[in-house]
Amino acid sequence: MRFETRAVHAGPPTDPDTGDVVPPIRLSTTFVRDATSKPLGDHTYIRESNPNQAYLESALTELEGGEATLAFGSGMAAGVALFQSLSAGDHIVMPEGVYYGYAVASREYFAKWGIEADFVRTEDTAAIRKALRPTTRLVWVETPSNPMLRVVDLAGAADAAHSVGAQLLVDNTFATPALQRPLEHGADVVLHSATKYFGGHSDVMGGCLVFGKKDPLFRSTLRTLQVLGAVLAPFNSWLILRGLRTLAVRMRAQSENAFKIARMLERHPTIAAVHYPGLESNPGHGLAGRQMEAYGAMLSFQMKGGRDAALATVGRARLFIRATSLGGVESLIEHRATSEGADATSPDDLVRLSVGLEHAEDLIEDLSRALCPVE
Ligand code: PLP
Repeated sequence: MRFETRAVHAGPPTDPDTGDVVPPIRLSTTFVRDATSKPLGDHTYIRESNPNQAYLESALTELEGGEATLAFGSGMAAGVALFQSLSAGDHIVMPEGVYYGYAVASREYFAKWGIEADFVRTEDTAAIRKALRPTTRLVWVETPSNPMLRVVDLAGAADAAHSVGAQLLVDNTFATPALQRPLEHGADVVLHSATKYFGGHSDVMGGCLVFGKKDPLFRSTLRTLQVLGAVLAPFNSWLILRGLRTLAVRMRAQSENAFKIARMLERHPTIAAVHYPGLESNPGHGLAGRQMEAYGAMLSFQMKGGRDAALATVGRARLFIRATSLGGVESLIEHRATSEGADATSPDDLVRLSVGLEHAEDLIEDLSRALCPVE
């Protein structure tokens, strides 16, 4: 079956007692045992597992083509659970421009946990290979990356990681399985901030890890989730599963809008650089064409006028909403370095767009006015 069909149907079986077409939200925190103290069903206590989380996990496993999924309370919790599942002395190769939350986590916690990390340009497979050590357990990539939209060669990164017995994790938040399925390219684990396109409506937080195999890394991360407890609430699981039903069509329409906007920006006299893998000028264009089914709905651009021009453009937007985050049906605009705050890693002339489902011409008109072309 094709992705669109699986996105609509993946997940919970129909309840034979009620025939619900849509699964109920099950709030019980604890589950009955029989007279011999054996669990009656699949669950015993909400932190260990619960029905709504299990429905969502099974849908995500199917959509990414893995063997098992773990759902977490946020994308950060998902990534950090993986870090916490490693041992002191283990080494990670991470992208130079990794999503800044993980950069902050690595700076503030890795030394305490005894984890070592090297940050390299992961779009250069040779740089990954150079950073590998006998103790490397994980190669972490993000493609397309946040906020520079860099594209990583997934098969190359997987081969590099496997050459020292490490595993490849791919943060697939920007692409989603509607556009890119990293496990098919040799990755071992796929991470998502479900807060973004999975939820799709900027009203729910969650995260997940999809594992290609139920291997030792899966088992130790499951233990971390169950013991340390960064679990996803039933209502959030339910909302995210509902979001998945429309994922394919949202990703297609939002990507088309983003492409039109990127083309407009490419020709605009105030712009120094547009970062969007769909543009022929983008260094990752050919690779993205081979790995992705469309180029996604995120883009960023740098302005000739520097930080002031970028801030002024963001300030003049009317239809684009000034807010951080991404992946909702509404288009967002942000001065990325301001959103990142004191720990900012983004260039200060950079504006990031999350392109939504409005009409492309309305978005282009709003941006053109906000950019204030030089005469
Ligand atoms: N990965 C990427 C690429 C992100 O953009 C984000 C958040 O913006 C995260 C992970 C973290 O997810 P969350 O905000 O759900 O914790």
